[in-house]
Order: sequence, then structure tokens, then C-alpha cells
Amino acid sequence: MAELKLQHLDKIYDNKVQAVFDFNMDVKDGELIVLVGPSGCGKSTTLRMVAGLEDISRGKLLLDGRDITQTPAKDRDMAMVFQNYALYGHMTIYENMAFSLTLRKENPNVIHKKVLAAAEILGLTSQLNKKPSQLSGGQRQRVAMGRSIVRNPKVFLFDEPLSNLDAKLRGATRREILLLHKRLQATMLYVTHDQTEALTLADRIVCMSMGHVQQVGTPLELYDQPNNLFVAGFIGLPPMNTWKVTVREGYLEGPGFKCPLTEKERGILAGHAGKEIVLGVRPENIALGSDVSVKVSNNENLGMNTLVYGHMGDAQRISAKLKGWMEYNTGDDVSVAFVRKHFFDAETTNAIR
Ligand code: ADP
Repeated sequence: MAELKLQHLDKIYDNKVQAVFDFNMDVKDGELIVLVGPSGCGKSTTLRMVAGLEDISRGKLLLDGRDITQTPAKDRDMAMVFQNYALYGHMTIYENMAFSLTLRKENPNVIHKKVLAAAEILGLTSQLNKKPSQLSGGQRQRVAMGRSIVRNPKVFLFDEPLSNLDAKLRGATRREILLLHKRLQATMLYVTHDQTEALTLADRIVCMSMGHVQQVGTPLELYDQPNNLFVAGFIGLPPMNTWKVTVREGYLEGPGFKCPLTEKERGILAGHAGKEIVLGVRPENIALGSDVSVKVSNNENLGMNTLVYGHMGDAQRISAKLKGWMEYNTGDDVSVAFVRKHFFDAETTNAIR
């Protein structure tokens, strides 16, 4: 069992920079939580407060109901995997994985069993006598995970564990982490700036900006029901198109384009007649249709899809991810429809639903 409660956590560094504001979250036993956001949004600080590597300025941290706010890192029963692996270069893989248990003076037979079991899970059995320098980046990251696994901690903490890997290895190692999570059924907190990692790994995502939590929810909730423009723009790739538009009777009017509203959308926007709002449309929610005309600037064929970049009217840029292999030339007019629209308050940037 490992339930974690983060209650009203604030972090104010000595230089008076407040990195985290009122962070609240109940992490359920066995949940994989991904903290995501741009560089500097406070996600590592939050993770480090949970690990005990940073003091908590205000608020409480509970592990299985026990207040561990002031508990030293070494007594928290958590293990952290770092971006730079933090392996000891002069030790073998075996010794690296055994290190924390050796320090704790565990029985050598028990250590041996645990290291072999972790190596087996991670496919490192044949590497145990090598030094870290003889391993690839992906293998080193697995050793770092192995070092955590042997400790059998209550909570695993990952700080951008894939950032030092190339794109292909990142994908492969990401899938390994997911399998590891399924196998260990352990509570995990995972920090990344990469929205793809968040969408593919998380049971629930916490999206942060400038020290504030913007939304907590399942990947689908953040993708399909973003709370505000920040989340809408951060989750999803290519990013959501957004345009300032005015709500008219039955349609939206932007500079140089108009698009019709369905009956349901009219209902959602009933309170905003005549007002300016922000319309958001994901590139993949644009299809060939008869609502809006797009003048093509260029397009990229991705095989299954074609990314079309262009503009509506004079200046409104638009990117669309159309199904299939489409051939367009610069200057072509393509007629499209917005299959799914998102609406945001132009002032608060909050979603209108
Ligand atoms: P992220 O992990 O999202 O990139 P961080 O948690 O590392 O963000 O940083 C959040 C904010 O706190 C940033 O503005 C950063 O400059 C600041 N910060 C991080 N560490 C320290 C520190 N030791 N002292 C002062 N400010 C810090």
C-alpha cells in the first residue's frame, strides 16, 4: 500500500522565488501520476519536495496516512530515478544495483536474490559484470531503475528519466516503464516536459504552469476537456489552433472567416451572444467539408495523414491534419469543416462548456 496525499504544498526558495503554489493531490495506491509542463513550471520542485530533497515551505505530505512532511529523505521509503542516471562509474552494474542494500548491511544472499530478480525484470542479466561506460544510454537508465526496484520502495519517483535518450530509445524505454508499472503495480510520480510521455504513461496527469496546477485528470480528460487555454495548447501535437472570434446568431465570426455552429454549440454559447471568445480546434479535428475555406501554404505527407498549413481569410493561420495522402500546391483552396470545437473565455481563458 502506498497512498500519497499532497496537501496545500507551497515552495518558496531562499531567494524568495515561489516555485509551487498550493499543490493538492491524492495519489491512489498503484497509480502512475505524470507531472507535466514547460521548463520552470515547478514540477521538479514538487517531486523533490515529495522525495524529501527540498524542504516543504507550507503544507503537508502524507504517506499512508502518516505525516512525513519533516521526515528525512532516507526514511521516506521512496526511490528516485534521475535524468542523468547517477550511476557509480567505477562499480559494476551488479554493484550499482546492490549499492543501497549493501549500505543497509542486508544479508548478501538476500541482496544477490534481489539484484538478480531486478536484472531479470529489466533484461540486464547478461550485463551485470560490466561497468556503466560499457552500456548504452537506455541500458544505463534501466540500471538506474533496477537500483530503485531492489529497494522495494513504497513510491517510485522519476525526474525526466528519458530526456537524455534519443527519440527511438525514448519510445522503447517509455514502453518499458509502462510494463514495469503494470508488473510492480507500484505508486509512481513521474516528471516530464513531454506531453507525449504524459499522454502515453499516465493514469492521471497533472498539468502545471508557473507553479500552479492547471488541471488534474486522465489523459483523455486533458486532451478532450481541457480546463483552459494553457492545457489546450500544451496537450496535443500539433498544438490546437486558436482564434479570437465573435459569437453571432448561429455562427462564429473571425477576421476573414465564418464557421457555423451546431444546435448543441449554440446552447453552450447562449450566454455569450455578441461577445468575443476564443475558438480552439485541434488539427486532427479538421476534415474535408464545406464550412471554411483554407488557402494552402504548404503541406507535409506523413503517410496516414497530411499536415496542411495555410490560412483562412487574410491572416488567420491554420494547421490541419487531414486523413490520408493528399496532394496540394501552394495557393490551393481547400474547403474544410471543424469536427470538434473547443470554446474559451477570452478574458479568463477558462473553457466554456
Ligand atoms: P521544472 O522542473 O518544471 O522545470 P523547477 O521546479 O526546476 O521547474 O523550477 C521551478 C522554479 O523554481 C523556476 O523558476 C526555477 O528557476 C526555480 N528554482 C528551482 N530551483 C531553485 C533553487 N534551488 N533556488 C531558487 N530557485 C529555484
